Order: sequence, then structure tokens, then C-alpha cells
Amino acid sequence: MGKLEYGDDLMQALNDVCAAHKIQTGRIEAIGAVKKAKLGYYNQEAKEYEFFETYQPLEITSLTGNISLRHGKPFVHAHLTLSDKQGKLIGGHMVPGTEVFACEFVIQEFSGPVFKRGFDNTTGLPLWDF
Ligand code: ZN
Repeated sequence: MGKLEYGDDLMQALNDVCAAHKIQTGRIEAIGAVKKAKLGYYNQEAKEYEFFETYQPLEITSLTGNISLRHGKPFVHAHLTLSDKQGKLIGGHMVPGTEVFACEFVIQEFSGPVFKRGFDNTTGLPLWDF
């Protein structure tokens, strides 16, 4: 368990934690708050991510994801659900560009085979390559 620092980039900071502790396979969850957010949505027709940003304080009501290797480095794939002051939710795929206000995370490291990301032709996504 740990916490991120005020002003951290959420995705970069979580990837840095995994790299620092050499975590290659695992699961991750977090709660907290952000100052602004950038999220991704995968356009399945175009096979590319679209992004949207919101410049307001939001709660991290849920961050859930997994850790595997991409390009030889620990990579966090996570999805975020965020709430505003009225409790309205937005969510999406975590990308760089979300600024931490406060964040507490839990990482569970798995032993066993290392999962590596390749490229999946059907979806256009960097899915696990078995
Ligand atoms: Zn995703």
C-alpha cells in the first residue's frame, strides 16, 4: 500500500511505483481525488483511443486495473471512475494527464508466469500475448 504525492501525474506515478518495486504482474486499486482528469475511450470502429479532459476537482471512486509488461517495462492498465460534487460519474481508460490531489493505492503482486503485452490484430489493442 502507498500514497501518491499532490500534483503527481496519476498514471506516471503508478507506473513508477511498479518499476521501483520491480512488480511485473499484479493487480492494482486506488481511491482518492484528482485536480483534473484526462480519460480515454476506445473507438472500436476506428481502432483508436479518443480522449476527453475535465478541469474540475473529482473523487476517485474507483481505480481498478492490472500490471503486466509492455515493451519490457511494468505497465499499469487501469480504468477510472470519478465523481463530481453532485455525485455524477464519469469514467474511462487511464492515460497520462490526470493530476493527483491525493491518492491511496493497493498493489497485489502475483507470482507465476509474467504476462507480456503484444499487439492484437482483431482489436488493434496491445493485449496479452500468450
Ligand atoms: Zn483500458
